[in-house]
Amino acid sequence: MSQVKTIKVNAIKNGTVIDHIAAGKVLKVIDLLNLTGDNSVMLGMNLSSNKIGKKDIIKIENRELSKEEANSIALISPSATLIIINDFEVVNKTSLEMPEYIEEHIICPNPKCITNSEEIPSKYYINNAEPATARCLYCEKKYLVEDLKIKI
Ligand SMILES: [Zn+2]
Repeated sequence: MSQVKTIKVNAIKNGTVIDHIAAGKVLKVIDLLNLTGDNSVMLGMNLSSNKIGKKDIIKIENRELSKEEANSIALISPSATLIIINDFEVVNKTSLEMPEYIEEHIICPNPKCITNSEEIPSKYYINNAEPATARCLYCEKKYLVEDLKIKI
């Protein structure tokens, strides 16, 4: 008899599932979403995926993501899929896309950048290449998206 390899993760009643997160990136997602409150959270790491090989997945009960949060997760893992669950049913499923630019949620790694010394909201243009890079509008420096500190 062949072995059943399906891993069952408990379903959530209401909330958000973020699927197809690049393997190893789910901890960054947790950090980003500040999941220290009362929400029940289930996560899986290094699961087999037909779509991306190995994946991470996270299920968050009673939490919907804002547009900014979804965009920031796309920066961490553009392969991710966002699934909204309502009364155990999938009501919405969207593939995330790397945004063209992102505002305010990134701290510029350049200590001399004006956004670090004055109250100016940062803005970065994203170049969706492999690997993706982001260019600061103010200091014009380019950084790997992976290295950026994203904060919501
Ligand atoms: Zn800068």
